[in-house]
Amino acid sequence: MKNIYLLGATGSIGTQTIEIIEKHPTEFKLIGISGFNNLNKIIEITNQFDLQIVSVKDEADALKLKALHPELNVVYGEDGLCKVSCFNPEDKQGVLINSLVGMVGLKPTIESIKIKRDILLANKETLVVGGHLIKDLLDEYKVNLYPIDSEHNALWQAMQGENIKSIKRLLITASGGSFRDLSRDELKNVTLKEALNHPNWSMGSKITIDSATMMNKGFEIIEAAYLFDIDIDCIEPVIHRESIIHSMVEYIDNSVIAQLAIPDMRLPISYAMFYPKRVEAPTPPLDFKSLSKLSFEPVNYERYPMVKMAIDAFKTGGSQRTVLNAANEAAVALFLNEKIRFIDIEAIVSDELANHKLIHHPSLEEIYKIDTKIKQNIFARYDK
Ligand code: NAD
Ligand code: MG
Repeated sequence: MKNIYLLGATGSIGTQTIEIIEKHPTEFKLIGISGFNNLNKIIEITNQFDLQIVSVKDEADALKLKALHPELNVVYGEDGLCKVSCFNPEDKQGVLINSLVGMVGLKPTIESIKIKRDILLANKETLVVGGHLIKDLLDEYKVNLYPIDSEHNALWQAMQGENIKSIKRLLITASGGSFRDLSRDELKNVTLKEALNHPNWSMGSKITIDSATMMNKGFEIIEAAYLFDIDIDCIEPVIHRESIIHSMVEYIDNSVIAQLAIPDMRLPISYAMFYPKRVEAPTPPLDFKSLSKLSFEPVNYERYPMVKMAIDAFKTGGSQRTVLNAANEAAVALFLNEKIRFIDIEAIVSDELANHKLIHHPSLEEIYKIDTKIKQNIFARYDK
């Protein structure tokens, strides 16, 4: 039995995680959750499960939930997220599932490591911004961090039983996002509704926009570099429109091992939750007879400059990754609120990266300071 502490329980990954918990009540017990904008959904989950702690957006929501569940430990805000991630520090069966969106997931991840609680991570922004800190802490506290992100979950599956030193290259597949058939010129006129219409995956709004700009792939390259401790030049993105191959590992003997499945996040979530056991997933099997082709194209960095921005930010290192993420979070939020155009996202991120004064090994405090400043500046300029 694993005890689950689930951050971002009301989101796309959180909801699918709860579906798996519901199907396997003898394997998983949901102990704590967090939600943010959707109090009704939080109340629904709280009514359904015998929870011990719930984190909500603010004090007003906390009072409402407390009135309904007086015995429940109700917390709120960023502090509340950390309280959930390290609730019951002596619980040896406890696992944190971090399905928050954005760098708000960084501190609760760090707190979980410090109580030696293993982590299943969907929240990639945490590694983009704080990968250097997380890696050191995982070593120091001997904690496991397993990837839920489908590409990294695929790479992890393709590495089972292998010597990591025999890896030559990681090939990370990309669908190309909502605008993969448009030229850069055509991007000038796209709408929010079109951007949110992903061809292969149904996901939260922020990652759907990140997929359309392909910043998501840039983030995933950084995520893979930290997770698998591999030189970033040995990680290659490949456009694979069908989203059937979720990524591939090339070994020194030129064997390539890939993981294939229909695009459905319940499979990687389930694999990470049950690891090292494989169980029947709630997803349909792949029907090879109906697969007419699997296609591959290189990623053109002129068409998708944000992939290159992410790789360059990783190579520059230090606080440049904080800037990359903070500017992107702010710009995507502005686009989701229809304050800027789609193509403005990359211009805003590129500007911030060009103007930043680098800190080589930023502490957590420095990361938060830079993050706040960048977001404030961008919102002050565009959120009118
Ligand atoms: P989502 O927007 O559907 O859900 C995000 C969750 O975080 C929600 O529960 C929301 O309430 C909470 N949240 C948002 N802002 C918050 C804040 N400031 N404070 C506290 N809580 C906050 O997002 P998602 O699509 O489930 O993605 C979650 C993470 O998983 C992201 O990092 C994303 O990149 C990654 N991911 C998602 C998918 C997918 O299929 N959805 C696939 C791979 C990776
Ligand atoms: Mg992914």
